[in-house]
Amino acid sequence: MNLVIIGTGMAGYTLAREVRKKDPLARITLITRDNGDSYSKPMLSNALAVGKSPEQLILSPAAKMAAQYDLQVLVQTQVTGIDRDRQQVLTDQGPVDYDQLVLAWGAEQLHLPTAGDGADQVVRVNQIHDYQLFRERLAKADRVAIIGPGLIGCEFANDLLHADKQVTVIGPDPWPLASLLPETAGRFVEQKLTAAGVQWQLGQTVARIDQAKAGFTLTLSDDQHLEVDLVLSAVGLRPNVDLASAAGLTVSRGIVVNPLGQTDDPRISALGDCAQYGERWLPYIMPIMHAARALAATLTGTPTDIVFPLMPVAVKTPAVPISLVPAPPGARWSFIEQDEGLVGRAKLDERTVGFVLLGPQTLRQSLVKELS
Ligand code: FAD
Repeated sequence: MNLVIIGTGMAGYTLAREVRKKDPLARITLITRDNGDSYSKPMLSNALAVGKSPEQLILSPAAKMAAQYDLQVLVQTQVTGIDRDRQQVLTDQGPVDYDQLVLAWGAEQLHLPTAGDGADQVVRVNQIHDYQLFRERLAKADRVAIIGPGLIGCEFANDLLHADKQVTVIGPDPWPLASLLPETAGRFVEQKLTAAGVQWQLGQTVARIDQAKAGFTLTLSDDQHLEVDLVLSAVGLRPNVDLASAAGLTVSRGIVVNPLGQTDDPRISALGDCAQYGERWLPYIMPIMHAARALAATLTGTPTDIVFPLMPVAVKTPAVPISLVPAPPGARWSFIEQDEGLVGRAKLDERTVGFVLLGPQTLRQSLVKELS
């Protein structure tokens, strides 16, 4: 088999490892536009807390991955298209033939159009290279604004406190993590992060970002001004679908795959942040691990459906550890206080359909069982 994987993120390398375990002879080529180093992306938002520099987050350089798993890794190579008739990936370094192709090319940070001459200096972190630039600029910054009070915004806010930065989180949402947490839980998180030092501008958007003598002046939707040295945007991700769509594959929010992980071309599969499993888009590590194992079996001759177990989301905010399973619309939440934390259950027709644990997490396993 001549397997080509586009992307050397968690999805690309996990799949390569799983295929290698099952087929020592497969020819496996990975293509990436970056330098191909393997790193733990989740650690980008808690590196300060654990005292790591960007360099220390690299788990294994590309050359070592290639040697260890007998891979060909084409680095600094931009994919520009897919020729399905010729079974070729088109790149800025020339075409690459495939028998089986896996799209593991991730997602991009959303860019919100914002007025002002400082708007193009907003930093977004979705790759280790972005993070290196962020840390360089952070070294000269005391006051940091984070746009986006979601999961990544809250994690970065908490992490920056470990570097003694003044942090203000801005967003239109009424409370932090509003798309994942009901109000009681969201307010609890807000309170704990406030006590740790985070400041909030909720119910607000950023209308302008202008360069100032030192740093930037942000103009908020209620006309308030905020002076900061650095602006980090964490407003969400958009799966990379354009090249798949140009190749005639079905895309919706992500690249749509069937239970085997295949697109509507059985020679092309998708995995990770760019993929959409039925109606579900799951930009997290656990789904990648489960899907990569099943896809590796399928690619090596044992068709295997991707089945996801219940996967609680853990939010890396040490000031208030959070573990949750989001509830469907219409669920009723109830809360109990426990050991200075909060336990919330979501019920629909007397059945537990979601939970949130704030603070002590000892109940997590029993609540997972309650949902099963
Ligand atoms: P990526 O890691 O984005 O890899 C995409 C690859 O494709 C890259 O190698 C890129 O160079 C390549 N590529 C893209 N386009 C092209 C092209 N045209 N040509 C060539 N190469 C291309 N998840 C959790 O479960 N728990 C957490 O705690 C957690 N924390 C996170 C913290 C942060 C700050 C972020 C940003 C994400 C976090 N996530 C977390 C999400 C998780 O890290 C991602 O779901 C996962 O890493 C995505 O991996 P991926 O391989 O699909 O994509």
